[in-house]
Amino acid sequence: MRLPEHHSILILGAGLAGLAAGVTLAREGVACTILETRKHLGGRAASTIDPRSGEEIDNCQHVALGCCTQYLRFLHEIGSLKHLEWTQEQHWIHAAIGAREHATPSVSRIGNAPLPAPLQGVPSLLGAKFLSFPAKLAAIQLATQVLLTDRRRMADLTFSQWLLQVGVDSPELVERLLTPIIVSACNCLPKECGADVALHVLQDAIFALPSASEIGVSRVPLSVLYEPIPEILARAGSQLHTGVSVQEFDERQVTISVGTTMQTVTADRVICALPFERVLTLASAELKRADRRFEALADLKHGPILGVHLKFAEPVCPHPHAVLVDRPTQWVFRKDDAGRHLHCVISGATEWMELTEAQIVERVCADLVACFGTVAQQKPLSARAIKERRATFVPSPSSYRARPSVEPVAVGGVLLAGDYTQTGWPATMESAVRSGAMAAAVAMGRAPDAFLEPALGRPLLTRFLPPFLQSDSH
Ligand SMILES: Cc1cc2nc3c(=O)[nH]c(=O)nc-3n(C[C@H](O)[C@H](O)[C@H](O)COP(=O)(O)OP(=O)(O)OC[C@H]3O[C@@H](n4cnc5c(N)ncnc54)[C@H](O)[C@@H]3O)c2cc1C
Repeated sequence: MRLPEHHSILILGAGLAGLAAGVTLAREGVACTILETRKHLGGRAASTIDPRSGEEIDNCQHVALGCCTQYLRFLHEIGSLKHLEWTQEQHWIHAAIGAREHATPSVSRIGNAPLPAPLQGVPSLLGAKFLSFPAKLAAIQLATQVLLTDRRRMADLTFSQWLLQVGVDSPELVERLLTPIIVSACNCLPKECGADVALHVLQDAIFALPSASEIGVSRVPLSVLYEPIPEILARAGSQLHTGVSVQEFDERQVTISVGTTMQTVTADRVICALPFERVLTLASAELKRADRRFEALADLKHGPILGVHLKFAEPVCPHPHAVLVDRPTQWVFRKDDAGRHLHCVISGATEWMELTEAQIVERVCADLVACFGTVAQQKPLSARAIKERRATFVPSPSSYRARPSVEPVAVGGVLLAGDYTQTGWPATMESAVRSGAMAAAVAMGRAPDAFLEPALGRPLLTRFLPPFLQSDSH
């Protein structure tokens, strides 16, 4: 296969950032060409056929929150929002490590009460069985500080340093409440995470409008969500080529390989939506010299995530999903109505990466037995552990300076799109689609935020705070 020699806009990579750029351009009536090395769309947020079982499985459970306004708009535009199933309540299960085998784990339902935002979560937090009274008081103090802090000024601190600075000094609160939230959203511990990014999660998802913290998971395999995209692109006159690998790129020229054939194509504008480690290796030497955004990428570090699919003969998990407090396995998602098929997620999973699948399954099952009781003692019918060593970048304070802007230093240069760009969000689907929409806007000569969906409105009670606290920009 040979591609046409010249393209108006070339998008490199068909992960969510590249797809969002292409779909945004298509909506605005602008044609583009997308090049993707794999055979499937969606990059890290995709499903593939498991060669062992022949079933289509997600590389890992992907969760959207109500505050992910750009991602939800993207799904709406491609007609796939209908596939998300929403839950308003979370189940936090506490079975302390070292507890006696017959000790009954406690289940706390964390959800919203009919109170004005941001107070809606307070009653369930006060009732949480996994927190002592002093830790609950610390949680209220934390909420006040979160609402009073301008996160944009906190980029040099880790979240743990910020907690100390504002006098929230409860190891129990950090271990049992904050660590599960920050690790799942940011893929690193509070002591590693930039305070600005952690505060973003707390301000926009937790202490915000009630709908912001609702959890949406896809009822269909992730790749099914993207099925309408090829037709949307084709209607706009765009081309989508899979199985095409970028070998090198600069401002106007991209070298590609299709099988063993090499070709060089040109473009009026290049949107690079490759993962950051590929950007670093595939950008031409001249480009790296001319645009300082590329050099800084070397300072970004990866964090791993582990996803474990388990099937049991008898139902194990009675909840749609559950947080396992104080256990190495952080989240369990029910993949069927009965709770026989589970997907267990461990973020920040560095320590798990050298374990064998058998060792991983043994550890995860021990956590399930601790939290769900003897029903989880049954041997799984099947198990599949998927290690993603390069799951996301780690949003440490140093990453703040390394994350590049979507826009180039010089007019007409390469636009970058990807979850790692300067969106203010941790590495999420929301960050990826925001960057894609920004790149599309700039490619069309518009302001970067021209196609950005507004953040959810601020809770009424916080509108009386100083104006800098009401900004949702980074
Ligand atoms: C295990 C795991 C769990 C996650 N859980 C969540 C979650 O619950 N919620 C959430 O919001 N986010 C989650 N994320 C993060 C989310 O998946 C990513 O932030 C998002 O998908 C990144 O999209 P992207 O387009 O920036 O990058 P990518 O998805 O990496 O897209 C880059 C694309 O470029 C392609 N490519 C690479 N090299 C070449 C080349 N040489 N030529 C052509 N194409 C190339 C890749 O194949 C890929 O399709 C998770 C990620 C992982 C790995």
